[in-house]
Amino acid sequence: MVRCLALNASFEPITMVPVRRALRLVIDGKAEIVEADADRLVRSERLALPRPAVIRLNKFVHVPRRFRRQVTNTFLFARDGYRCQFCGRTQAVLKPRECLTRDHIVPFSRGGTDAWTNVVTACSTCNARKGNHLPEELGMFPMTPPAEPHFVHLAWAVRRLTPTQARYIRLFYGPQVLAELTARV
Ligand SMILES: [Zn+2]
Repeated sequence: MVRCLALNASFEPITMVPVRRALRLVIDGKAEIVEADADRLVRSERLALPRPAVIRLNKFVHVPRRFRRQVTNTFLFARDGYRCQFCGRTQAVLKPRECLTRDHIVPFSRGGTDAWTNVVTACSTCNARKGNHLPEELGMFPMTPPAEPHFVHLAWAVRRLTPTQARYIRLFYGPQVLAELTARV
């Protein structure tokens, strides 16, 4: 389902909201439409408005940053583009019995940790093959050396943004942070 990107009054991207909720904010005078799908009308009571793709709140709201530094698989897979870092296959081309997993570069059993720099996305087959070996023991090195992602990447990579919406994330945070993200939308 297409959702609407909500910007703070400062243009900081805040969250994704359902289109109905976005329209309600606009009708109540709490937000303005920044980008809309002109060829898609949404009827609400007596009004017919273009479907909002990006809205901006009229008043600035303080948004607490609840950024979890902990690695979750959702964010780990997003950081790695949903691609096994050993064989390069994406989630879409895995066989029915395979799945994406978390692989520890230095295995737990050998003192490895759950830090961003020690974990990569691996398909279950590559993960099983690597077992509790170090990369140099098997010649299995990740395609991209694992690093802690920028919080913006974490926050937005897992949401489904349209190219128009992604443009507003890029405008606010700068092109470099989201170069990877926008390449995928
Ligand atoms: Zn693999």
